[in-house]
Amino acid sequence: MLDYLVVGFGLAGVSFCEQLKNKGKTFKVISDDSQKASQVAGGFYNPVILKRFTLAWLAKEQLEIAIPFYTRIEERLDIKLISKIPVLRRFASIEEQNLWFEAADKPQLKPFLSLEIHQNKNEYIDAPFGYGEVFHTGKIDTDKLLSGYKAYLLQKDMLRQEHFDFSYFKVDGGSVTYKTIKARKIVFAEGYGLKQNPYFNYLPLVGTKGEYVTIKAPDLKENNSIKSSVFCIPLGNDTYKIGANYERNDKTNDPTEKAKTEILKKLDALIHCKYEIIDHVAGVRPTVVDRRPLVGRHPEYENLYVLNGFGSRGFLIAPYVSEQLFELVEAQNPLPHEVDISRFTKKWFK
Ligand SMILES: Cc1cc2nc3c(=O)[nH]c(=O)nc-3n(C[C@H](O)[C@H](O)[C@H](O)COP(=O)(O)OP(=O)(O)OC[C@H]3O[C@@H](n4cnc5c(N)ncnc54)[C@H](O)[C@@H]3O)c2cc1C
Repeated sequence: MLDYLVVGFGLAGVSFCEQLKNKGKTFKVISDDSQKASQVAGGFYNPVILKRFTLAWLAKEQLEIAIPFYTRIEERLDIKLISKIPVLRRFASIEEQNLWFEAADKPQLKPFLSLEIHQNKNEYIDAPFGYGEVFHTGKIDTDKLLSGYKAYLLQKDMLRQEHFDFSYFKVDGGSVTYKTIKARKIVFAEGYGLKQNPYFNYLPLVGTKGEYVTIKAPDLKENNSIKSSVFCIPLGNDTYKIGANYERNDKTNDPTEKAKTEILKKLDALIHCKYEIIDHVAGVRPTVVDRRPLVGRHPEYENLYVLNGFGSRGFLIAPYVSEQLFELVEAQNPLPHEVDISRFTKKWFK
């Protein structure tokens, strides 16, 4: 019997696998390709909400756990995941500059916001009011994280690439069975796929679709990530990821002309050099009504757990929250109320 079965191999699944691996637990993962959030994500980590100039939820604490977490994976799998890319927030007006300085003066934001304005030196970018720089930002190479971890699991025969079909799933007193696999516990980390999970689909997952367009712009030569009404993230070799939008009605993973037009309109207001579109992707962010993760034990079945609701800042949140889930399961350490799914049980569970 295995210690754990994990369903879903996106960022949430990888984060929990890493907890299990470090603590010497036996496990297998089952995942299909039905959800794409982690595959298409920008992989950016940024502790500041750049619309309002406020610190994101527990960003400092999450950053302290996330960087060592990804560094450990880098060392073990011998891959480079972290690029410390600066984020420049483009100011649209003098008023915005003033709001930035007000924010930068606050003790909790001081370590993260520059006290000087960076003047724009790139002739192909329109930024007459300059930029504020956010510190402690960077990018996780999502492709390498997922493909490197996948290769590691496949080599150890710990990953089955298939759809988890609930008609083959049984919960017994102290264990769960899926086809020929028996495990003491199961952790569901299905992203927006949670909507199809009969045990946890009562949880108020909203789902917010996002699309990115990748461009090649040989003249642009920009090494910083620039945040205006869109993010422009340098990927190397004159390519840039541009996006992402937020769409609540469409829950498919199909890229749309509508989003592409919206993203390129914003890009055209920022840069004025030639570019060609080389890629366009979409995925559904597992967002939650109260913008907090969905973590915890099933209210009736004590060996069923969920790790979800990472919304739009998963790369900072996942390492932090996956550790909390592991501590709940193995050491009975209670979860903070704000992430615990028990906050919805009374209201939502039928
Ligand atoms: C366009 C876009 C840009 C983003 N940019 C950023 C960013 O820059 N920084 C950041 O921190 N966050 C970003 N995010 C958010 C981030 O992607 C999410 O927080 C995170 O990836 C969610 O990971 P997850 O593992 O919960 O879900 P997913 O990545 O969706 O993974 C779930 C996995 O479970 C599998 N699965 C589901 N159901 C089943 C089933 N029944 N059987 C088998 N397998 C199943 C799915 O196929 C998938 O592989 C972005 C999201 C989008 C869409």
